[in-house]
Amino acid sequence: MKKLAIIGSTGSVGTQTLDVITQHADQFEVEGLAAGSNADLFVEQVNKFRPKKASVSTKEIADRVRPLIPSGVELYYGEEGLIEVAAGTEAETVVTAIVGSAGLPATLAAISEGKHIGLANKETLVTAGHLVTGLAKKKGVSLLPVDSEHSAIFQCLNGERMEDVERITLTASGGSFRDLSRDQLQHVTVEDALKHPNWSMGAKITIDSATMVNKGLEVIEARWLFGMSFEQIGVLLHPESIVHSFVEYRDGSVIAQLGTPDMRVPIQYALSYPERWTSSTKRLSLAEVGKLHFREMDMVRYPCLRLAFECGKIGGTATSVYNAANEVAVARFLNREISFLQIEHIIESVLSRHEVQAEPDLEAIKEADRWARETARSL
Ligand code: NAD
Ligand code: MG
Repeated sequence: MKKLAIIGSTGSVGTQTLDVITQHADQFEVEGLAAGSNADLFVEQVNKFRPKKASVSTKEIADRVRPLIPSGVELYYGEEGLIEVAAGTEAETVVTAIVGSAGLPATLAAISEGKHIGLANKETLVTAGHLVTGLAKKKGVSLLPVDSEHSAIFQCLNGERMEDVERITLTASGGSFRDLSRDQLQHVTVEDALKHPNWSMGAKITIDSATMVNKGLEVIEARWLFGMSFEQIGVLLHPESIVHSFVEYRDGSVIAQLGTPDMRVPIQYALSYPERWTSSTKRLSLAEVGKLHFREMDMVRYPCLRLAFECGKIGGTATSVYNAANEVAVARFLNREISFLQIEHIIESVLSRHEVQAEPDLEAIKEADRWARETARSL
């Protein structure tokens, strides 16, 4: 039995992780579940999976759910509760399905306790990649990618030597607005932006896919997961989301990972690795698909991707600020305070005001994150 904890259990990745666990119920024991504010779903999950520890975002929600869950479950709340679930159980692996850099303290706490990470929460690597990977190395724990592109790269690298790798390429679906010109982007609505053509995901990452910030975050995530330089990381537009990403080797061979778009496959692989288990995902029929399309990425059409590469190359607090400014801008867009194109303007303006600090420690990252949020709110 694998002992697991999940932080962000009520979200898109969290619920699909629990689906995988249900499909392979004899393989897993759920030690901890942490969620934000979806109390009804949280209560249902705690009653079904009976974790030893559980946590919600606030005391009010904790008071509301306490009478509805088994009395043996230790219930916590807030950031301390999140850390308790991530680091304070017997789980060997913690799936980080929480959204945003809010997941950083709990992820670091879990790694400190020697827990492997099934990593969906890419923002932690963007905001503090050197701290997360440094601590993981020191503690001898694995960071197993859940993100579909990174799972693909991880699978394509299996059994290969890193010195033989020339480049990796992340594919991008293009999000909800891939067929619109920049002019047409001026008047798009929140509802339009939330309609992703290929994947059903949380609101923040769906907006990030439309602005291409998601691919920017993923480029930085790949740099930390695979130790690549930014010159070795490419992005290619691929509307079908069938080729999940690929690796080019120095002998000219290209190894890609393909499949129908279904997050439960990379989630399951992060949990079953190094084994592969059965899955009921729809099988890929290339004959049925017929054609696959690929296009060069246009950095003028997608300035947020250009900014991510620039921040990545600068390093230090630049990526923390890129991430935090984006989190605030997306929240403001979802709240209908700003237009779609103002997301990129806010990120760029906040970055232009930031004095980058190299090799920041955790305190410096928290300070850069706080400053970027405050600045992004004021614009
Ligand atoms: P989501 O919004 O659907 O779910 C987020 C979860 O985190 C929810 O359970 C929410 O309650 C919880 N949460 C949020 N803030 C919290 C807080 N402060 N304390 C405790 N819990 C909190 O998001 P998602 O789409 O599942 O994405 C989660 C992460 O996985 C993101 O980093 C995203 O980039 C990454 N990811 C998602 C997908 C996908 O298909 N959805 C694919 C690849 C990577
Ligand atoms: Mg992805």
